[in-house]
Amino acid sequence: MNDGSKFLIALDDGHGMETAGKRTPVFPEGGFMKENEFNSRVVEILNEELKRCGFRTLLTAPTDKDTSLYDRVKKANDADVDLFLSVHANAFKGEWGDWGGITTFAYVADETSKRYGQIIHKWLMKGTEMRDRGVKDGSWLYIVRKTKKSIPTILVECGFMDNLREARLLITEAYRKECAVELAKAICEIFNVEYVKEEKSSKLYKVQVGAFRVKNNALRLAKELRGKGYDTYIVEDEVDETK
Ligand SMILES: [Zn+2]
Repeated sequence: MNDGSKFLIALDDGHGMETAGKRTPVFPEGGFMKENEFNSRVVEILNEELKRCGFRTLLTAPTDKDTSLYDRVKKANDADVDLFLSVHANAFKGEWGDWGGITTFAYVADETSKRYGQIIHKWLMKGTEMRDRGVKDGSWLYIVRKTKKSIPTILVECGFMDNLREARLLITEAYRKECAVELAKAICEIFNVEYVKEEKSSKLYKVQVGAFRVKNNALRLAKELRGKGYDTYIVEDEVDETK
């Protein structure tokens, strides 16, 4: 197993919050999602996942502003990253339709890029049932053309914004998290680094602020704390006077 800190991963959240046109159609119940809302949240979770596994990361577009493709690629090239991963959601017509699924773009003429793409795609296809559109040639993509040939560059399309079922997934924290965890596991497999799971504590830490013999005093403090916005409840305990 390798130490994750040996590898620098460029994480690229496609487009920006201000990019025109990159969004879902209007949902039947109103409202829409911008593509970057999905992309940036997945990258944010993925960044935490990878750091937990020891990787070093480079965010190519850390602000909400539109970052040019030129700047994104330049950052990755200058830092000589070990992988350039760009996260996107797809769209076909911009109106609801039954197209859908997950696509992974790699520079398939390059054996390394192709292999990385296949591993990433394999992981993305786990979890929620999605149509498999396969690993496709991304040699026409700007980021693939302009990133140094020594840097494997992968672009993932995690679902269609103009498929109603998939758009309803893309807006959820659960699906964003699923994609981020799958991408993290894929990157761990690629670089032979151990995946470190998020630690979820089953313990609950309570803070006690007082104990009173007179019930009214307890009620008064509880009221005061509630007024300050704390969740407060009173527990009645028997006191053993013989001790
Ligand atoms: Zn996109």
